Amino acid sequence: MVDETFVARMKEKALGGKGVTEDEAYRLAEAPVDAVVDAADEVRERNMGDGVDTCSIVNAKSGGCAEDCGFCAQSAHFDTDVDRYDFLEPEEILDAAKRAEEDGANRFGIVVAERGIDKEKRPEEFEKVLEAIRLIRDETDIEPDASLGLITPEEADALVEAGLQHFNHNIETAPSFFDNVVSTHDYEDRVRAIEVAQEAGMHVCAGVIFGMGENVEHRVEAALELRDIDVDTVPINILNPVPGTPFEDYAKVTVEEILQGVALYRFIMPDKVIRLTGGREENLKDRQGDVLRAGANGLLVGDYLTTGGQDAEGDEEMIESVGMEIQDMG
Ligand code: SF4
Repeated sequence: MVDETFVARMKEKALGGKGVTEDEAYRLAEAPVDAVVDAADEVRERNMGDGVDTCSIVNAKSGGCAEDCGFCAQSAHFDTDVDRYDFLEPEEILDAAKRAEEDGANRFGIVVAERGIDKEKRPEEFEKVLEAIRLIRDETDIEPDASLGLITPEEADALVEAGLQHFNHNIETAPSFFDNVVSTHDYEDRVRAIEVAQEAGMHVCAGVIFGMGENVEHRVEAALELRDIDVDTVPINILNPVPGTPFEDYAKVTVEEILQGVALYRFIMPDKVIRLTGGREENLKDRQGDVLRAGANGLLVGDYLTTGGQDAEGDEEMIESVGMEIQDMG
């Protein structure tokens, strides 16, 4: 059994800004969860302060996606009752950005349900994204972000030219578990999209979903991958099983598993923004603040892609109740 002395040693290492090694990360996964969680909270507080970085998203094109990600209500492979609509107009995206700014979000993500935005096949949609980015830059102070699926270097350069500096593309899960989640594209496709965004000079937000049947070792494996890829921000979604998807009957992960996973991510990436994103209300209910005291320091606020979220006031109260405050962490 791994004891608390080991956790204390790992805490000192993480406080020095160094993430734990691969062996140490897997050993921490066997340590008492309470000790790991408390230590991760201290690492977050002393390394990064009490700020909570917030972001918000708009689903700019919903449903009908040709990919088959097993968790996703928007895949055309599954019979879900998700809203389907074509690409929003740039002005509608701008309005959503303004609402997110009013609600106190630091960043605003434009998300599309596609394998990739694909400038060649759908040039008019690509142009709408560029126009929306320009409008957000011109008319708000919120930082635009985008989640556009697989992108080419040429597309990445055009996005940067329009004013985009932040890009999201999740790896979703560990490479060794990826085939249990998606069959229409590979793990390597996802990593390549992240590299393309990085090579174009964008900051990358890339993370995972807990609760797709993976175990704690898979969660650790994914975190080590994200560290190797050198992403800037790490979103952690918790599966909210959607009726009609292959994962509809999956048992929810326990609160303890979520806290442990978040804390392990803090030990592996002691100086990154670790952001709790989709599924937090459903899975954590009144324990959401506990995750902010387990090493997390970011939140996705407002509505999610296909489900509603907690209101802005509720989030602010929750953040304050654990002694933290909304802050732009860059
Ligand atoms: S996660 Fe993205 S790529 Fe996968 S099915 Fe959903 S919208 Fe398509």
